[in-house]
Order: sequence, then structure tokens, then C-alpha cells
Amino acid sequence: MEPTPKAAAPRTERILPGIWRLRLPLPWPGVPHGNAWALSAGDGIVLFDTGMGGNGRLRQLDLALAQAGFGVEDVSLVVCTHSHTDHYGLAASIVDAAGCELWMHPAWEHVRLLADDPAAALEQRLEVARQSGVPPVALARYRESRSGDEETGIDAIRVPDRELAPGVEVETDHGVWQVHETPGHAPSHVVLHQPESKLMITGDHLLGRTVLFFDYGHSPDPVGEFLTSLSEVEPLEVELCLPGHGRPFRDPENKIAEARRQVEELRGKVRAALADGEQTAFAIVAEILGRENLDGPASAWVLQIVLSFLDHMALAGEVVAVDGTDPQRWALT
Ligand SMILES: [Zn+2]
Ligand SMILES: [Zn+2]
Repeated sequence: MEPTPKAAAPRTERILPGIWRLRLPLPWPGVPHGNAWALSAGDGIVLFDTGMGGNGRLRQLDLALAQAGFGVEDVSLVVCTHSHTDHYGLAASIVDAAGCELWMHPAWEHVRLLADDPAAALEQRLEVARQSGVPPVALARYRESRSGDEETGIDAIRVPDRELAPGVEVETDHGVWQVHETPGHAPSHVVLHQPESKLMITGDHLLGRTVLFFDYGHSPDPVGEFLTSLSEVEPLEVELCLPGHGRPFRDPENKIAEARRQVEELRGKVRAALADGEQTAFAIVAEILGRENLDGPASAWVLQIVLSFLDHMALAGEVVAVDGTDPQRWALT
């Protein structure tokens, strides 16, 4: 784990009457902040996403809410767009402090192993990396850097009181929000749409600056699910998107087009890397990132993206896993 930078102060911004963006610091290189969205609802607030769990983070959320005139005890409902640590990590602590419910999609359990047994989760990631062709010296270095790191970013596993699925409605002073399932980035991902005010809480499905990520290994085809989820939100009338990271934005159609473009671009890069013969997933990562960048933090998440693409392209009959290879090698069909 990277050393945690000195925690920056949270910052709260009123976007519309009764809607606040809580900009919460994250300890991740390249992803310095995440958003939680506080919406007034009667005497209290509905909180969409929580920020990361961990020492001092409930206090940070409380400071952010204070800038909107509230405290954690005013949260009447927690709604998570998905169960990644930066959106769900603080849920258990908030629910305990506020005595409220948690609503989240039923496919949230991809986070469970990390929360329950971080050491086992690390071993599982290392084994996937080994099978993908990551060299032993890099695996050892990764294990060394992570061992003894108990900070998972999840305070405790909290099972949702209600499963967020189409048909479930979330009531706020801004009207009733509809649930749309948008798996791909994570199996549990949903967006929330408010048809009258044309607002959409997009989580990590659509961001102002498009960054593709697929949580590999929990469903058969995250890339295919993501493309379907882009089509799911495309017909919705939206004037303002409230994303999981970064500022609100007004042009979801451009972000959808950009996400589709990046998917095609990556598909092309995977094909190009395999053009001269069979390769491991890690060799494809090296082609995409450049060998000089393989030691950086990007390689672990680019590996998950490449593995997701290989599964997607295998289902489409474009590539095939070469029989009897370990590490696994892939070839164009
Ligand atoms: Zn996420
Ligand atoms: Zn996120």
C-alpha cells in the first residue's frame, strides 16, 4: 500500500437547493477524491455513497456534512451505487451512528473477501497475476509491499436492508429516484435517475473524465455488461450528472460515446498485441502500458482490464485461451 498522504480536508459544495457534493479525500495515487451526495429528505438527508472507511473517516464525513448544516445523525438512508471501498467502505459506521437503513444492489458480495479476509484476497489476486504471466520477482515485491496491511477501506460488512433493483424508489425533497442496473465497472453497480429534474447519480458508470475499469473475476463478461449498461442509460433524459468522482457534468451522451470509443480502442490494442503470436495477459499489459511503466500502480488495474477484455473477446470468438499453458497464453482465432 502506498503511504497514506496527510488527509486533505473534505470540502462540501451545494450544487442545487437541497443537493450537496461531499468531496471526500482518498489515499489513492491518481484518484485523490471521491464524492458522496447528500440530498435533503424531510427532516434528514439521504446519502448516496459513503466515501472510504478507516480510521478518522467517519469524522471527516461528519465535517463534510457540517458544511451543509447536517451531521451523521441526520442521515435517514444510505444508498450505495456499488460496493467498491470508496462508495461503500463507511456504510456500516454511518448506519450504526445514524440508526438508518442501507440500500444496495444484491450483487454486492464481490467486496466480501477483501473485507472478511484481506490476506486471502491478496493471495487470490497474486494467483490471478501469476496465471496471467506476472514474473515471480514482481509478485514477491507486490506481496512484500502489501503484507501486514490491514487497512481494507471497509469498516465492516453491512448487508443491505433493502436490495436496490429496478422498481425500488428512493424518495428525497428533489423527487423520487429510479434505479437502473448498470453492471460492468462492478457487478453491483446501479445509477439513480430523477426524471422530473433530469438528474442522474452516476457512481463510476459515467465520469466527467472517462476512466474505464472492470472488476474482473466476479461475472462472466464485465466488458459486455458495461456496453449493455451504456445503452441502458442512453435513453434517459438527463440534464445534470452527479458522478462518483470529479465535478458534475451536463453531457452524458458525450461520455457514453467516449466510453464506447475507449472500449473499441482497447479491443484494438489487445488485437494488436496478439498479432505476432500468442501472449500472456501480462505481456499484453506491457504492450499497452510500455515496459517502463510496469512497476507503477497502473499495471495491476490494467491487468484486470486486459483480463476482462480477453474474456469478452473469447465469448465473441475473437481470441482463444491456448490449451495447456501456465501461465495462460492467448491467441487470435
Ligand atoms: Zn468503483
Ligand atoms: Zn469510485
